[in-house]
Amino acid sequence: MIDLKSMSLPEVTEWMRGLGQPAFRGKQVFTWLHRGVRSFEEMTNLPKDLRETLKETCLLAPPVVARKQESRLDGTIKYLWELSDGNCIESVLMRYHHGNTVCISSQVGCRMGCAFCASTIAGKVRNLTPAEMLDQVLFTQLDSGLPVSNIVLMGIGEPLDNLDAVLKFLELVNSPDGMNIGMRHISLSTCGLVPGIRRLADLELQLTLSVSLHAPDSATRSRIMPVNRAYDVEELFAACHDYFQKTGRRISFEYAMIDGVNDSDQQADLIARKLRGMPGHVNLIPLNDVVESPFKPSRRIAAFQKRLESHGITATVRRSLGGDIDASCGQLRRKAMEEAQKGEDSQ
Ligand code: SAH
Repeated sequence: MIDLKSMSLPEVTEWMRGLGQPAFRGKQVFTWLHRGVRSFEEMTNLPKDLRETLKETCLLAPPVVARKQESRLDGTIKYLWELSDGNCIESVLMRYHHGNTVCISSQVGCRMGCAFCASTIAGKVRNLTPAEMLDQVLFTQLDSGLPVSNIVLMGIGEPLDNLDAVLKFLELVNSPDGMNIGMRHISLSTCGLVPGIRRLADLELQLTLSVSLHAPDSATRSRIMPVNRAYDVEELFAACHDYFQKTGRRISFEYAMIDGVNDSDQQADLIARKLRGMPGHVNLIPLNDVVESPFKPSRRIAAFQKRLESHGITATVRRSLGGDIDASCGQLRRKAMEEAQKGEDSQ
């Protein structure tokens, strides 16, 4: 089956031409797909036989809401989507003053192995297609009735481990004939796959790059993030400096505060030294307690923030949203997987 929804407008147009159709049909189909139709039948301005041909040859299987949780505290909505092959992924809609932001997944599971993260516990199942990433944005908007203005690629998965599909997704969601969400309204978060960061730098996209730093020294970082053994923190900082030189875009560094592991003043001082020459922003994240992980939340967040600020570094503490609905990475998917497992065990 042809994955028409993962194709750009010129590609859809070319494909329609191959069917002997005029060029304008490409745009019609593209527009319908990006409006979130659930079947080719709904494309009412296409001839009936063409709709029939599309139905027989092309894939159109939007995700289904498997679970939906809405926070009573702040209106955050968490979706567990069931994909056409039965796999599940999560997206979260957060309501900020600057607009509604949807956090999407880029893979089913993750193979990066960060020791504190729920998404990686069962490894990676598969990559998501560009259409499956687009659908998370599109159907979050359609289901919630809330217009989405910002996207963060910070859900399940490592976007730079699925970079070709992610780049295609960015092109799709950016399209004026589609959702038309500007690159400056998109953030991409990586655990530090250096070749991917360098590839992104060469493209000079206007998106915001977030780097999950979590430790500025190699010994600590290798302990909590296996990726550091492949791309050491020194290499990572070098790539970040080059990224800034090339794009002029400020990088945001994510830093989950873990008790007794990465929250010392010396580590704050080291961050400051490593960021010299670049206007970095450090986002301190209160660690989410993941049941399976031995790590505990730090009690030194304010002191650490102060120490960074004393070096002239901008440091913010992430406001936690959706505390009542398992709204952080991978937790809802794990819960659903465990429940399914229990269901099977008891049969
Ligand atoms: N793979 C990408 C994007 C997904 S994770 C990345 O690593 O950046 C989004 C952010 O949540 C990352 O910064 C990740 O390290 C962080 N995170 C994962 N588990 C966490 C936890 N238990 N508490 C706080 N932050 C966590």
